[in-house]
Amino acid sequence: GRELLRVENLKVYYPLRRTLEEILAGVRRFLRAVDGVSFSILEGESLALVGESGSGKTTVARAIVGLVEPTEGRITYNGYDVAAFRGRELAMFRRSVQMVFQDPSVSLNPRMRVGDQVKFPLDVNKIGSKEERRQIVLETLKRVGLVPPEDFYNRYPHQLSGGQRQRVAIARALVLRPRLLIADEPISNIDVSARAQILSLLKELREEMGLTLLYITHDLSSAWAVADKVAVMYLGKILEYGRVDDVFTNPLHPYTRALLSSVPSLSPEQKLRKKLLLSGEVPNAINIPSGCRLHPRCPFASQKCRVEEPSLLDAGNGHLVACHLYG
Ligand code: SF4
Repeated sequence: GRELLRVENLKVYYPLRRTLEEILAGVRRFLRAVDGVSFSILEGESLALVGESGSGKTTVARAIVGLVEPTEGRITYNGYDVAAFRGRELAMFRRSVQMVFQDPSVSLNPRMRVGDQVKFPLDVNKIGSKEERRQIVLETLKRVGLVPPEDFYNRYPHQLSGGQRQRVAIARALVLRPRLLIADEPISNIDVSARAQILSLLKELREEMGLTLLYITHDLSSAWAVADKVAVMYLGKILEYGRVDDVFTNPLHPYTRALLSSVPSLSPEQKLRKKLLLSGEVPNAINIPSGCRLHPRCPFASQKCRVEEPSLLDAGNGHLVACHLYG
């Protein structure tokens, strides 16, 4: 496939309020939510951005859709710089890249009928006649498994289950026929019983509509279920990247290995591998450790790890890792 989206050295820093002493000393401090992230997604591909809360994965997504402004770096769509889009180009880009958020009970309007919410983007973009819009909405509701669609059209969000509400949010994201769908923890706020169904829906949509998917999660097993490739984030950086099979059966980075040690086994290989535990907690993004940002917690840390930041390098077959143990 062709490259659809590229993120280059993305940084999102938030300046912190300074004390008088810091102002006098000319010290500036930042929360480094995203600290130099690069990756690309090919057309039709599914990439999972995996990380714990505070890893910066959601901020990356929000920067792509323009909800936060990058401090540094470049985002290109189809080879064009997103920051340079104006007018019609910007409108086209906004239509082509849609986002589904974590909590459908927040992202949906409780006082608006489901069908009207799904129709809203069509109204805003003045697509089709009134009757055509209604038809598109009914087809989309059916497509996401809300059948009979005529019945769901007239319901309100509170009359639906959490899983059904997330289907509505997905329908609303799909109604403009986007090419890239960004799903930010789409299953973490819904019933456990409905999660697998939402994941299979995302997979079906990808295959049938040729959608490209950026799937954001803290949950490795769901990444394994929906994605072709995975990027593992920690404190604003990607530490490991590769095909899901490679990363999950042969994780290289100590952080990925520790994450995988804490999930019930995904593969037979994993059962054989020794568990790896990290010490301590994730530091906050204000005081990111020097050198390798994992070093205070890593059992393999050496003196080099404390001073020199490892770059993300290819360990073979496009499996990238940022760790001094390799290369
Ligand atoms: Fe551990 Fe060093 Fe590798 Fe960082 S670079 S993960 S501290 S071994």
